[in-house]
Amino acid sequence: MRMHMKPEATGSGLTSQRVRDRLVERLRANGINDERVLNAIRTVPRHLFIDEVLASRAYEDTALPIGQGQTISQPWVVARMTEALMESEPRKVLEVGTGSGYQAAVLAALGLEVHTVERIGELLRVARKRFRTLGLTVRSKHDDGRAGWPENGPFDAILVTAAAPALVDELKAQLVPGGVLIAPVGPANSQSLVRIRQRADGGFDEEVLAPVVFVPLLSGTVD
Ligand code: SAH
Repeated sequence: MRMHMKPEATGSGLTSQRVRDRLVERLRANGINDERVLNAIRTVPRHLFIDEVLASRAYEDTALPIGQGQTISQPWVVARMTEALMESEPRKVLEVGTGSGYQAAVLAALGLEVHTVERIGELLRVARKRFRTLGLTVRSKHDDGRAGWPENGPFDAILVTAAAPALVDELKAQLVPGGVLIAPVGPANSQSLVRIRQRADGGFDEEVLAPVVFVPLLSGTVD
C-alpha cells in the first residue's frame, strides 16, 4: 500500500491499529469478504477524516457529521460500495461527493487511479490536506459532480456518495463499455444502493445491493 504514515496517522487508544482491526473483524462478520477492501480499511486512518472531538468514535460502524450538514459514510457502506466496485477490477474511478475524503482515500489505498468531485469548497480543501498528509494521490475538483468529469473520463467505475431520485444520465455516459456505476437511489431516508453495468448492446443491467441512507445529491457549488 502506497502510504507513508506520519506519527499522528498511527493513532493511540480509541484510534489505534487494534481498534481499526476490530472494525475490520466486524465488517467481515457483516458480510464483507474482499480481503483487498478489508486491508484498505485496516490501513486508512479514519480518525484523521473527522474532527478531533469525534475521533474517539472513528472506528464505530456509524456515519458521523463532518460539518456543512454533511456526513462521512458508515464504514460498512464504504466497504460494501468498494467491494461492489472491485468486483469489476477497475483501474480508473470517479467518485462524486468527496466529503471528508475517506472513501477516496480507501480507493487510492487500493491502488486505483482516483478522481473525485465535491460541490462544497471548504470540505474539499480539508480533504485535499488529508490526501497530502497521507501521501495519497487523488485527483479532485470543486464542481457540481452531477456533470461527472468528462475531460478525465471515461471511467471503469463511478461511485456516487450522495442520493438522487434517479441515476444521472450524464454519469452513465462517462463509463467505459462494461463499466459500473454504483449509487444510492431513492427519496430521503430510504434509498437503495444500486449497481448498473453497461451491456455490449449499450443497455444497462441493474442490481439492488442494499438499503442505505445518504445525504442528498444537490446542484451547483458553494465556497
Ligand atoms: N464520500 C464521502 C461522503 C460524503 S457525504 C466521504 O467518504 O466522506 C456526500 C458528499 O457529497 C457531501 O460532501 C456533499 O457536499 C457532496 N455532494 C452532494 N451533491 C454533490 C454534487 N452534485 N457534486 C459533488 N458533490 C456533491
